[in-house]
Amino acid sequence: MSDQGDSHHDDPRHPSHWAPATRAVRAGQTRGLEQEQSEPIYASSSFTYRSAAEAAARFSGESPGNIYSRFTNPTVRTFEQRLAALEGAEACVATASGMSAVLAATLGLLRAGDHIVASSGLFGATASLFANYLPRYGIEVTTVPLTDLQAWSDAMRPQTRMLFLETPSNPLTEVADIAALADLARGQGAWLAVDNCFCTPALQRPLELGADLVIHSATKYLDGQGRCIGGAVCGDAQVVGEQVFGFLRTAGPSMSPFNAWVFLKGLETLALRMEAHCRSASELAHWLEEHPAVERVFYPGLARHPQHALAARQQSAFGGIVSFEVRGGRDAAWRVIDNTRLLSITANLGDAKSTITHPATTTHGRNTPEQRAAAGITESLVRVSVGLEAVADIRADLDAALSALA
Ligand SMILES: *Cc1c(COP(=O)(O)O)cnc(C)c1O
Repeated sequence: MSDQGDSHHDDPRHPSHWAPATRAVRAGQTRGLEQEQSEPIYASSSFTYRSAAEAAARFSGESPGNIYSRFTNPTVRTFEQRLAALEGAEACVATASGMSAVLAATLGLLRAGDHIVASSGLFGATASLFANYLPRYGIEVTTVPLTDLQAWSDAMRPQTRMLFLETPSNPLTEVADIAALADLARGQGAWLAVDNCFCTPALQRPLELGADLVIHSATKYLDGQGRCIGGAVCGDAQVVGEQVFGFLRTAGPSMSPFNAWVFLKGLETLALRMEAHCRSASELAHWLEEHPAVERVFYPGLARHPQHALAARQQSAFGGIVSFEVRGGRDAAWRVIDNTRLLSITANLGDAKSTITHPATTTHGRNTPEQRAAAGITESLVRVSVGLEAVADIRADLDAALSALA
């Protein structure tokens, strides 16, 4: 039985009254007969019934409960409920990866003839899914500059069913006005989907700003230690709890119980980690801005960032990702990357370990040069995901690497 279920809604101790920090540690847990303190990993592909009648009632949906781990697993459900509690969502569907979350949200909700308007600076695989795969199934995608509200509005058609964006964007940290785009979407009966990977619910809750769907790559900050691949879609009980869930149940891009457990533990420390990532990233961004070898720094916390004021309003902090352009093209960017020692050369982000990558030839390497140009991703761009090491050590490593350009 649930150790959270014995109080009423008007009791201040009821889970619905918990502050985010409490939700991150406690939401979704149901203790079993063993009275375990930490959530168990239910490594069981199927679940049993006391009778044929009970099995029939489960399968018909008449009585809720576990059936088969493709779509009902207690460890995965605990993760889903905890993330939903943090995003302020009625429902959450966990998926095998961030990309399968994007896939479940699009294929689960759209059909041939439907149209998506998406921002042009999307994560590389999302951009490729939208440009190369969805059109095969009759779903057309128009891309527009993330921050150009008029362009979003102009791109809408009667068939537009979804607006899709990431904010801050990867890797240039552009910030979209979620509330304004939610209004635009609502006016045309379309869903607004926000990939909340860079901020996580610790910094930004898109549903509160009017978005309909939140997409996550749990691989990044939700894990926070670079261990597992996973994703999630959050939203209301009908759209996510039934429609996206129905796609997952049938198509099967499901999260494993082990990965769910890792992400569940990640959520417990998410807010504390995000605070530290943001503090160090902000310090590095200000330092890089003054560095003679650096041409331009992209970080929403900088006063000269074009959407600084919007980011300050919409997010509780500015995030852990800093990108910068060095003087010279690809050679110079690669030289900086190759001359780091502490930072890991890897395209992953949101890890306790700082990572450094060259977006044009890694995360966005499969995009066409035209797509990269539209997204503003140049050959001289370097992206750093600022980890939890001492900021002085990260700065010393970058400083030594940048001096290799002198
Ligand atoms: C990594 C990432 C994804 C895809 O997630 P995977 O877990 O790698 O499939 C989607 N969106 C953003 C912004 C990402 O950084």
